[in-house]
Amino acid sequence: MIKKHIVSDSSQIYFDFGKAEGSFIWDRNGKKFIDFTSGWNVTNLGWENPEIKEAIAKQLNENVYSPFWAPDEIKEKYAQELVAALPEELNTIVRATGGSEANEEAIKIARAFTDRTKIIGFKNSYHGQTAEELALVYEPRKIMGSAPKEYIQMDFPEKDLSEFAKNLEEILKGNDIAAIIAEAGIVTGGGQTSIAPEEFLKTIRELTEKYGTLLILDEVGTGFSRCGQLFGMEIEGVVPDMATFAKGISNGAAAIGAVAIKEEITKKAAKQSVLISTFGWTALACAAALKTLEIHRRDRIWEKAQADGEYILEVLNKELDGNSKVKTIRGVGMEIGVLFNDDVDVKALNQKLFDAGLLVAIDANNFQLMPPLTIEREVLNEGLDIFVSTIKE
Ligand code: PMP
Repeated sequence: MIKKHIVSDSSQIYFDFGKAEGSFIWDRNGKKFIDFTSGWNVTNLGWENPEIKEAIAKQLNENVYSPFWAPDEIKEKYAQELVAALPEELNTIVRATGGSEANEEAIKIARAFTDRTKIIGFKNSYHGQTAEELALVYEPRKIMGSAPKEYIQMDFPEKDLSEFAKNLEEILKGNDIAAIIAEAGIVTGGGQTSIAPEEFLKTIRELTEKYGTLLILDEVGTGFSRCGQLFGMEIEGVVPDMATFAKGISNGAAAIGAVAIKEEITKKAAKQSVLISTFGWTALACAAALKTLEIHRRDRIWEKAQADGEYILEVLNKELDGNSKVKTIRGVGMEIGVLFNDDVDVKALNQKLFDAGLLVAIDANNFQLMPPLTIEREVLNEGLDIFVSTIKE
């Protein structure tokens, strides 16, 4: 879709964004919406978070940029704080401007470290818009340019973990897979909010270690408290070889992404590849990210996300129990998916929600509910009322 010169995503409802605050968005005609998207897991701490804006304003009076080879103080401070929030093995950082770049760097690093080229991804998940990342998860692959044999797309296991483990081991046995890239047991970047059985990450971790394959955990959506822990890897207590971050990392206030990597991997990879980014980690972005991380840890935002997520599931399960339109309701933390039966006109349903003043994200016949984690209970209830009553109509 092209609107006013801008190429956009036609799967969501287009509107003229006016302003936002907390859990609300207004269009330019003044229509007010309750937001259940957080801009797709970006504004986890509420839209236009004043503390983060203030941190950026303060940094504006200092420096806004330093050369990528000469880190300023704020860059160093943010690296220190991010590493401190992660398992101690993940103690080196490659800078990026967003999730696509971070994942692309991680793929490159895995290849450099292992001297292997093949990468495993999961069908219908999402890791970004580069040709490599699209080849990992989507069919058909013909527009992607890269050699398909370098990418192995597995089905995301929703039920049977032992069957999945058997299939994965069969692939890894060839000792030619550089890395597997996965989210922390839930697909947040699009698709159907699929959830893997418990021990998904533990299973992958065990098998990848056995066969010298690296585990890249994409925390772009699961990170920053969305799934009831500060980072999704904490749910199973699994430490990946690399973890990538973006989106909620700066609450939308600046473009920034990161790859956190075990030191021995970084050291070897850096000998064969240049791990830099001109706009990765500008001073303003670091100021935003530093304050964002500080708020998450100070207010233990993940605890509210977990409690509110459980509440949303409880309300939806009660209100929509037996509803003929709904196939499944599921979620982890405040990442909730409502999947509709194939015969439901989800686009029309989404339009009704929009008209009634509720914004949700949609992918095929799945609605993804991702309210700001700071949403007040009253506003959450108002949004849930709109959602439930519109579906029941
Ligand atoms: N990984 C996941 C899980 C995502 O949701 C996204 C964005 N939707 C990306 C990676 C890509 O991030 P970006 O849009 O910042 O490139």
